[in-house]
Amino acid sequence: MKKGKLIVVSGPSGIGKDTVVAEYLKRNDAYKSISCTSRKIREGDIPDKTYHFITKEEFENKIKNGELLEYTIYNNNYYGTLKNTIDEQLEKGKDVIMVIEVEGEANVKKIYPDAISIFLLPPSMDILKDRLINRGNVSPEDIEDRMKTAEREIATSVRYDYKIINDDLDNAVKSLENIIKNNINE
Ligand code: 5GP
Repeated sequence: MKKGKLIVVSGPSGIGKDTVVAEYLKRNDAYKSISCTSRKIREGDIPDKTYHFITKEEFENKIKNGELLEYTIYNNNYYGTLKNTIDEQLEKGKDVIMVIEVEGEANVKKIYPDAISIFLLPPSMDILKDRLINRGNVSPEDIEDRMKTAEREIATSVRYDYKIINDDLDNAVKSLENIIKNNINE
């Protein structure tokens, strides 16, 4: 059976990665990888759907037991992808989408050189800042930190296979569909 494609989506905080991927999944058949994280549950998070929320100690045990494909520390919290489900889904012929940050993407590419990497860009840095502010519940210092991280992440986007400017949800999803379709037909 033909194996599925691995698709890695990255982009700065507030860009709308999860919204674009959720809309893609409504329109297409694919499996979204559910990461483990030690960060606190935020409003809107659904345990075991958004993430597997675990403690720092549980996360460190997973590292020790070799259960993670890749992991990183982002904003003082652990984030990582579980090994077993990814290969299982790819073997079944399912496309797998991972929404991870830039360090994780680099590590995934080392293990799966055929993975398609896609970076979501904001139409402008001012628009990204507005989106972060409109999310609410974040201090001005937090916004500044996230903007600095966003600049660093955007600088690494040159190495990604594709970039999509997320100025409109429908357009961004259509671009994602085109990229995945074109790669699958190769
Ligand atoms: P958030 O806390 O906003 O949900 O996620 C923070 C960042 O961690 C986002 O850029 C998100 O894509 C990334 N992330 C989520 N899961 C993983 C993972 O399993 N591995 C890596 N490397 N990054 C992840």
